[in-house]
Amino acid sequence: MKIKTLVMLICLLSFGVADAREMKAKKTAPPSNYGTTNQYYSQLISGGTPDVAELNLFANMLPKGGDIHHHYSGAIYAETYLDWVGEKNYCIYRESDGQLKAQKYRIEIKPAAELAEGAVKICISADAVRRDNAFYRELLMRWSDKDFSNHYHEQPAPDQQFFDTFAFFGPVSNAAFQDGLQSLKDRAKAENVQYIETMLKKPPDIANPHLAKLINDLKTEATEDDTEAVLSECADFMDGDAAAKAKIDDYVKSLEEVAAGIYDAAFKLRFQAYVSRNNAPAKVFSGLYAAFAAAKSSNLIVGVNIVGPENGHVAMRDYSLHMQMFRFLNQRFPGVKLSLHAGELVLGMVPPEGLKSHVREAVEIAMADRIGHGVDYCA
Ligand SMILES: [Zn+2]
Repeated sequence: MKIKTLVMLICLLSFGVADAREMKAKKTAPPSNYGTTNQYYSQLISGGTPDVAELNLFANMLPKGGDIHHHYSGAIYAETYLDWVGEKNYCIYRESDGQLKAQKYRIEIKPAAELAEGAVKICISADAVRRDNAFYRELLMRWSDKDFSNHYHEQPAPDQQFFDTFAFFGPVSNAAFQDGLQSLKDRAKAENVQYIETMLKKPPDIANPHLAKLINDLKTEATEDDTEAVLSECADFMDGDAAAKAKIDDYVKSLEEVAAGIYDAAFKLRFQAYVSRNNAPAKVFSGLYAAFAAAKSSNLIVGVNIVGPENGHVAMRDYSLHMQMFRFLNQRFPGVKLSLHAGELVLGMVPPEGLKSHVREAVEIAMADRIGHGVDYCA
């Protein structure tokens, strides 16, 4: 027998044996996708040193569906913000000065000609930041949570560090919505995320000094009826105010414009309108009114949210009032969905009494469809 023929025969025989084994296995119990994935994952995390590189690849490839708790400004990398600072010719304070109202790491959007001489000296360009490696690294750490916990440094409390970042990059975060959304979309697709529901920008304020005073004067002991009467008066005013309607229409239009061209057959983008929970009651209510009205008028806005440090003094003081506002606006704008930050607290951040009711009030009073965090607990 020629060698070539022998090799072919062995191949055929092995093929036949493998085929028969496979058929037998199929008749018994074919491995499920879940089983195979589970086995592969267990293998990656087994042993003393998990295979982190392969775990990362594995996690990237997992289909994730949607990211439904997404803050646009918190999702852009600090390096990208620095690029935008350069493009806009803004500068960044490299030290603080109380008299000049300069705060280290803050972006200055005023042109140099409008700044005091002292401020010009301590406010440096994006290029100058990049040339100073120590300050560049420091800046990235303060504009994000980068390296927060892997080395010793003088640091603010973790939650303070986190919320501070928004104020640092805030001035430039709305500089290029479409570029930012495109980069988020590209990254999402690379990570097998098909849907993002992001909080992009706040709805407009609708100011009316007389009505604002009525809401701001509501006392914590005001009855539900008293509160509802005041909220009704304000909402009635906003319903009939042409300027308010124009502002809300502009807001919706601005979201539609930046979203155009971002979503496609393989990727969906939607928005949540939101307000900050640490503002005066009148500002919170007018923002919420605009958010509900906007959500009612556009399919792109799929929900309303409330954001900011929940342990802030105003947020804690007005929490129940905010939930009543949601309940009230729910009735004015039926069908608008709520996705609320609620219970973003742990024991020690606030007195124990403050941990008892936030999640329940969000679900039972505000009638939230979803909540984010929900980790506060006190027996
Ligand atoms: Zn959040």
